Amino acid sequence: MEEEAAQDVRASKTKPEKVPADIHPPLDFLFPFLDLRSQFAGIREQIMSAISRLMESQQFILGPEVQSFEAEAASWLESRFAVSCASGSDALLLSLMAWGVGPEDEVIVPPFTFGATAGAVARLGARPVFVDIDAVTYNIDPAQIEGSITPRTRAIIPVHLFGLPADMDPILKTAQRHGLAVVEDAAQAIGARHRGVHVGNLGVLGCFSFFPSKNLGGAGDGGLIATQDAALAEKLRMIRVHGCRKKYQYEILGMNSRLDALQAAILRVKLRHLSAWTRRRQERADRYRVLFAEYGLDDCVTLPVVPEGQVHVYNQFVIRCAKRDPLREFLRSRGVPTEIYYPSPLHLQPAFAYLGYKPDQLPQAESACKEVLALPIYPELRDEQQVAVVEAIADFWGARD
Ligand SMILES: *Cc1c(COP(=O)(O)O)cnc(C)c1O
Repeated sequence: MEEEAAQDVRASKTKPEKVPADIHPPLDFLFPFLDLRSQFAGIREQIMSAISRLMESQQFILGPEVQSFEAEAASWLESRFAVSCASGSDALLLSLMAWGVGPEDEVIVPPFTFGATAGAVARLGARPVFVDIDAVTYNIDPAQIEGSITPRTRAIIPVHLFGLPADMDPILKTAQRHGLAVVEDAAQAIGARHRGVHVGNLGVLGCFSFFPSKNLGGAGDGGLIATQDAALAEKLRMIRVHGCRKKYQYEILGMNSRLDALQAAILRVKLRHLSAWTRRRQERADRYRVLFAEYGLDDCVTLPVVPEGQVHVYNQFVIRCAKRDPLREFLRSRGVPTEIYYPSPLHLQPAFAYLGYKPDQLPQAESACKEVLALPIYPELRDEQQVAVVEAIADFWGARD
């Protein structure tokens, strides 16, 4: 299976023009930043048969595929309940709705994350309160949370950024002391663990995304909420179907946010590979560490740090470097694809300008935005591709030979 996948990468290097330029990297990259076609090549038969089974059933909304996926996901996550929905963004929105967050409320979020983390809060008329990140882990700094809590604070949303769990012990302690919900944004971190516990099971609600680039990616959008709380699970199941337990009886205000049965069928196949894929990502990360050491680059760039008791699942492998922009330009010239997650912190974005944050107010997030660089990492990434990445970085620093 891996051989087959590898074949596909080699083939994609010389792919003809009929591939639309907007969904594949330009031909002058040595290989894609993320190679989903290579993943598909390894599981094509299983996926096609799942799609075909779903089409024969013509049951597209909820039903047995969704039920089975939820049961299998709950079991994989070692969670009591798993409620699927239309996206990771909706998982956050539904979670906050189930917790009863609304206007006048405040919710604590990090500024160095994808927009949906704070967007879900603002969308409900509540106020996102940004708390700066830790410079080493890029996750919310627990020491700064306490000072941002007011009588209006209802919840904290720690993000397990890039696949590394946030520093949950002090976060949970602070939340407990103030009676706040912890809603985990685990969109990038399915399979990560904090002191042996799966992320998503540490707070009252844990949100996952099946956006194609996540570690468990669908063929489109999808999301899921894990919880140990039966009443919250029931409420989430109602909210995703317009607040109904019975058809046309609207008990609470809800919306339409369901995981398509087609996505459920595809995700059931992929879930069976997730443990192996996760190990493979971790191996690729370890390989980068060895290569960076071998090329003597330890002092040139900062590698991801994994604190004691944490399991990182490397949705991204993010290095840090003060000369990030020239480094990225150099790598591009050498055909090495990279990405920037994230180029600008949420508190300085136009959509959140009304909150009144100013530059330099959350310095760690702002400085991370200027210095982080994500390198290619995925289960199908090959050794010589990683060597090409690190060799190019070494050449930028003149560190080779
Ligand atoms: C991807 C992501 C989301 C949103 O997930 P979607 O499925 O794209 O809506 C939320 N938070 C973080 C941190 C993410 O990376």
